[in-house]
Amino acid sequence: SRESEHVDLAGFMEGVKRRNPGQTEFIQAVQEVAEDIFEFIEGKEDYHRWQILRRIAEPDRIVSFRVCWEDDNHNIRVQRGYRVQNNNAIGPYKGGLRFHPSVNESILKFLAFEQTFKNALTGLPMGGGKGGSNFNPKGKSDGEIMRFCQSFMTELYRHIGADVDVPAGDIGVGGREIGYMYGQYKRITGQFTGVLTGKGMEYGGSLIRPEATGYGAVYFLENMLKTKGQDLAGKRAVISGSGNVATHAAEKINQLGGKVLTLSDSEGFVHDPDGIDQEKINWVKAHKTRRRGRISEYADEFKNATFHAGQRPWGVECDVALPCATQNELLGEDARTLVRNGCIAVSEGANMPTDLDGVHVFKEAHLLYAPGKASNAGGVAVSGLEMSQNSERRSWRESELQQMLRDIMDGIHERCLEYGDRGGGYTDYVKGANIAGFKKVADAML
Ligand code: GLU
Repeated sequence: SRESEHVDLAGFMEGVKRRNPGQTEFIQAVQEVAEDIFEFIEGKEDYHRWQILRRIAEPDRIVSFRVCWEDDNHNIRVQRGYRVQNNNAIGPYKGGLRFHPSVNESILKFLAFEQTFKNALTGLPMGGGKGGSNFNPKGKSDGEIMRFCQSFMTELYRHIGADVDVPAGDIGVGGREIGYMYGQYKRITGQFTGVLTGKGMEYGGSLIRPEATGYGAVYFLENMLKTKGQDLAGKRAVISGSGNVATHAAEKINQLGGKVLTLSDSEGFVHDPDGIDQEKINWVKAHKTRRRGRISEYADEFKNATFHAGQRPWGVECDVALPCATQNELLGEDARTLVRNGCIAVSEGANMPTDLDGVHVFKEAHLLYAPGKASNAGGVAVSGLEMSQNSERRSWRESELQQMLRDIMDGIHERCLEYGDRGGGYTDYVKGANIAGFKKVADAML
């Protein structure tokens, strides 16, 4: 019989910190999962206790490479590119690419780790990965973006493949960037395969992929509210971010009868007491994505709206909140403010937007709180459906895809209820998501 080393949560986390010095985001993501997993595996010899988690919290492989590109002034610029392949126990590595100046190994490791659990939760056969670069797309010309994307793919192509690793978009990477990268992959390899998702409709993309993350986060919110006999009609929603996830979350909130009060970007947030309706959302989409404008200009465009520089929207009174910008944008203090102001539900569209302190505040207050790995899984889920359509060499109808997205989000909610029950009618969705995701990956590894 196996002599099993006894390690507790604190001892485990000490090891994680020792092996990943200074990687604060990665350590935070592992800690949030480990808190629940240690509770779950207590007494279960099957899982050799902490040893499976120890393996999942060590990426299979990290590829790091130089990316040189020429800017419009003919300077040769140098960036770092990465692909973190975290775990492929249940399927090919799958996860987005992030282009943002903050990108480093810690951030991509946390995202790839989270992605492993998220992808398992979708029920589709996808492992976890993430990649990107510290390239800053802000203010770059179309030509500069194109040359950067091509150069990035010139190295990345050798590490990916339709059955190996399938990247997609994330912050700073949308349809345009995917198009430039896909073209380069095809040029280098001569293969037309489903090696990236989030492609354009003309060349193998899937309908509703752009909408999927935001819509999915609202479906999950709706499911949580339903457990309390409530719905979104008349609910005031505070949303952060103003990109692909935030605008589509806002769109779905409106469709379900809610009222969206805020959107934000890195410079501040706009508060529109009249509600950000579909017409205004369309303005934001055009303004932010096509013209690369700032959200502050919203306040010049629509009367009664105000811009709050350097602030996040969590102080605005609301019934539901959707952090849809980036990691650690909602801290313990913000969580306390939301609870104090009577917010009843939080559905994360971003990855790890709430810090550990904030997570604990929401849990203690018994808020309906969905971690991103459950509530924002709609995006990668439709990416999984894009992979299926590419393999089948067909494009499914929008109505079919809408239904599949709904079913997948319902399924994730069900799994959270099953594994997150803490008694007394309280569902701990963090625990539910962590354990359901862990179980699938751990069983596959065993
Ligand atoms: N970047 C998205 C996420 O965080 C989507 C990844 C994908 O579609 O592969 O899940």
